[in-house]
Amino acid sequence: MAEGSFSGKAAIVTGGARGIGLAVAKTLAGGGADIAIWDVLEEGAKESAKEIQRLGVKAVALKVDVTSAAEVEKAAGETVEALGKASILVNNAGITRDGMFLRMDESDWDLVLAINLKGAFLCTKAVARKMRKTGGSIVNMASVAGITGNAGQANYSASKAGLMGLTKTCARELARYGIRVNAVAPGYIDTEMTRGLSEDVREQVLASVPLGRYGTPEEVASVVSFLAGDGSSYLTGQVVHVCGGMAM
Ligand code: NDP
Repeated sequence: MAEGSFSGKAAIVTGGARGIGLAVAKTLAGGGADIAIWDVLEEGAKESAKEIQRLGVKAVALKVDVTSAAEVEKAAGETVEALGKASILVNNAGITRDGMFLRMDESDWDLVLAINLKGAFLCTKAVARKMRKTGGSIVNMASVAGITGNAGQANYSASKAGLMGLTKTCARELARYGIRVNAVAPGYIDTEMTRGLSEDVREQVLASVPLGRYGTPEEVASVVSFLAGDGSSYLTGQVVHVCGGMAM
């Protein structure tokens, strides 16, 4: 049994099958939290849950599309049944569908807003209802693109800016239940999402990062873990930039 500052807690990580979400799930599990991975990638989520169980905690994988209110409600119930509670929610599931604004398809706008923003709305609503009696901590995965904007990412930047607004409003409304709501805004992190960028873009990106390198999923996970845990007990409604100094 893993012992640590998250012992006795249960954490839900959306999009936790891989990338930043998986690093977050492993970090929280390393601190003793039981984990529920909610992801559309069913096989990936199951593999990740098995990997996490080896850390000595309970881990379940649920196939959930965060844009479906029915699936999210069902998953919230199944998670509490399996793990006994919901103490932490990390709204991490997110996608990009890039394109220059004047040529951006309406369908790409709708899909990105549905997963990145509406998904967090639905998950927060379903899980916060379960947290009401015990309190809890919610961490939203925003992006520096939501702060600075990014050419070619009107849909993504708007979704992440919206997520920061949602974070602050939920922080104000849910504080009365002992639920804190914060966000992290990562810069360029080395995952599947950024691996497809061309060498030109990669060089351009690195020139804009004072620390001169991409971040790792684990570096984002350690800040999420701080926001999820008692070390940040007087923080709510905040957005922490994890971006090597790109946005300051
Ligand atoms: P990945 O693409 O590696 O992982 C995202 C995960 O979310 C995938 O497993 C994906 O499954 C899943 N997912 C996608 N859509 C849904 C859905 N509708 N319901 C449930 N799960 C879904 O991305 P990252 O780890 O790089 O990104 C994680 C988060 O961090 C995202 O919100 C992203 O916007 C944010 N972020 C990432 C940055 C980076 O540089 N990598 C920078 C700033 C923010 P599938 O593959 O099937 O789509």
